[in-house]
Amino acid sequence: MPKTAKTIRTPADVAAHFDANFDANSVMAENSARLSRRIYKDTACGAWADFMRHDVADPWIFRVGSIVEGIDAEIMPETVALPCSPEDLDCAVRCVEDAAQSLWNETHGCEDCGEERETGYRSINPDCAACDGEGTIL
Ligand SMILES: [Zn+2]
Repeated sequence: MPKTAKTIRTPADVAAHFDANFDANSVMAENSARLSRRIYKDTACGAWADFMRHDVADPWIFRVGSIVEGIDAEIMPETVALPCSPEDLDCAVRCVEDAAQSLWNETHGCEDCGEERETGYRSINPDCAACDGEGTIL
């Protein structure tokens, strides 16, 4: 992902940081959708993202989250209020990716990976010979 050294102050700055298109003339929902498509493509877990704020007088908040396929579990979204640093944005995305990856690993084991857990899912066993530690898609 491209790096911007300056402080992120506006949703347009966020979009620029992630190399997403931003149109100042369109409604924020459309810019959120553009950002979300970009983040979806740039993350292994296919994360979503958007801009939100509770009130027009409030600062914008960048949100990123993910839904783990196959188990329909939602990763608790990370929120970053503007202004922030580029690292804050990257950190939030990484956090969601890591959480999605570990949840995926905990729930996508194949039948030979091991015992079913109390959640009803199997963890991926990296040494499993049946799936080569790849697990299986539920
Ligand atoms: Zn396996």
